[in-house]
Amino acid sequence: MRQGWQDALKRELPEEALLWDHASLVKFSNDMHHLSPVLEEALEGKIADCIAVPRTLEELDQVIIVAASYEVPLTPRGGGTCNYGQCVPLTGGIVVDVTKLNRVIELGEGFMRVEPGANMGRMETLAREAGQEMLLLPTTFKKSTLAGFIMGGFGGVGSIAWGTIWDGMVESLSIRTVEAEPQTILVEGQNIQPYLHSYGTIGIITEIRVKLAPKTKWIQYGVTFDDWQTAAQFGYALADNPVIRKRLVSVNEWPIPSYFTPFQLPSDRALVFVMLDADHEDQLRALTEAWNGRVDMELPYDEYHKKLGISDFSFGHYRLWVQKKDPAYTNIQLFLDPSRYLEQFEAIKAEFPDLLVHIEYMIRGGKLAMMGTPIFRYQTEARIQQLKACCIAHGAKVDDPHTYDLEGGGRAYAVDTLWSIKRQNDPLLLLNQGKLSQPEAAL
Ligand SMILES: Cc1cc2nc3c(=O)[nH]c(=O)nc-3n(C[C@H](O)[C@H](O)[C@H](O)COP(=O)(O)OP(=O)(O)OC[C@H]3O[C@@H](n4cnc5c(N)ncnc54)[C@H](O)[C@@H]3O)c2cc1C
Repeated sequence: MRQGWQDALKRELPEEALLWDHASLVKFSNDMHHLSPVLEEALEGKIADCIAVPRTLEELDQVIIVAASYEVPLTPRGGGTCNYGQCVPLTGGIVVDVTKLNRVIELGEGFMRVEPGANMGRMETLAREAGQEMLLLPTTFKKSTLAGFIMGGFGGVGSIAWGTIWDGMVESLSIRTVEAEPQTILVEGQNIQPYLHSYGTIGIITEIRVKLAPKTKWIQYGVTFDDWQTAAQFGYALADNPVIRKRLVSVNEWPIPSYFTPFQLPSDRALVFVMLDADHEDQLRALTEAWNGRVDMELPYDEYHKKLGISDFSFGHYRLWVQKKDPAYTNIQLFLDPSRYLEQFEAIKAEFPDLLVHIEYMIRGGKLAMMGTPIFRYQTEARIQQLKACCIAHGAKVDDPHTYDLEGGGRAYAVDTLWSIKRQNDPLLLLNQGKLSQPEAAL
């Protein structure tokens, strides 16, 4: 950081686009990483020197130009809901909040084009008013931005039908480079892939075009079973059924449902939350009967998005309810082998009996995948490492929710590609420093 950058920023931007007070610096230097006790400790005290809140792309450019001219670290931020510390500025500098760059530029048949800070809940509402809907929503959609989702997230509601962010949802991206003379790069087709889930380390998104799906009448159900194994098998059969249209299938071992206090759910029963096309209700009831289950909860489609819904209890959200009552709980994220997931979970639970099963079904790369995010009471970081080793030994792939670097977070395979893009788009290496580990060759 060269001296004088603060004065340069104040010269180039209106006063209201810059925050310098301590409370704002703390607030906008944080995200939801405190959900991990490991990250909470590792990221304590990391704070920006300034928060920039540009209201136009011209103001964003001024922030970039000052950052590049004075070599000031720059960390982009959307709604700040990510939970791996992706928004935390490890080396200080400027956090650039894009939530005021939130225009919907175009809403057409089958697509929407927006600025990076467009709120995903608003996008879903606008799409549904036009007879369409978003392909994917993170369960934090009410607060999160589209740029934040595709840079920090991976999938969610809709992933059981449309896959993850890598499966075609994004049609194009405009990326602004971080240089004294910023350039815009239009990224399309396969070139989009490396940008997704790159934590804002390889360019700043200024525009996104996403696909939309036709609007569906979604009914939400809670289906219960004697044990988590039957619930998981029912979930698998439903998820794998190509005829029954659904937007979410999510399994919870008892007592996780006991924490979902807004709903009246029966005791001692494993729970599968299902978001289903109203036209397929009969098939759901038949499948429930075949697995000796019971439909114990139903939310009609005219309540969809109007009250608490099952997405408020799935993906990252189920554990918020648990942690609200018992903050000691944390989780780990696994991809199980669909041909032997029961065996894998049983083997892991045999070694870690306090683990409670939670599963989300989704399509990944055209195939059905099972993401297990079991919860357990945190004891020590060493025990989390033992649990990871145990999961790997039983053939599960682990994406570590207790690390802030992209490699540990599941992108180790792409580090070289990310670095080659970064050198072009961010030649001074200012973007979200410390999140993308140096490849061997650059050390
Ligand atoms: C309870 C809970 C539930 C969650 N559920 C889900 C879920 O279902 N699915 C899921 O995928 N995730 C989930 N998450 C993680 C997160 O909420 C989502 O990924 C969310 O969409 C992130 O959006 P955001 O606007 O809050 O992004 P932020 O947290 O603000 O940012 C995320 C990343 O994007 C980068 N970024 C932001 N804007 C830009 C830009 N313009 N250019 C370049 N980089 C940028 C940031 O630097 C950061 O690395 C959950 C988190 C919590 C705490």
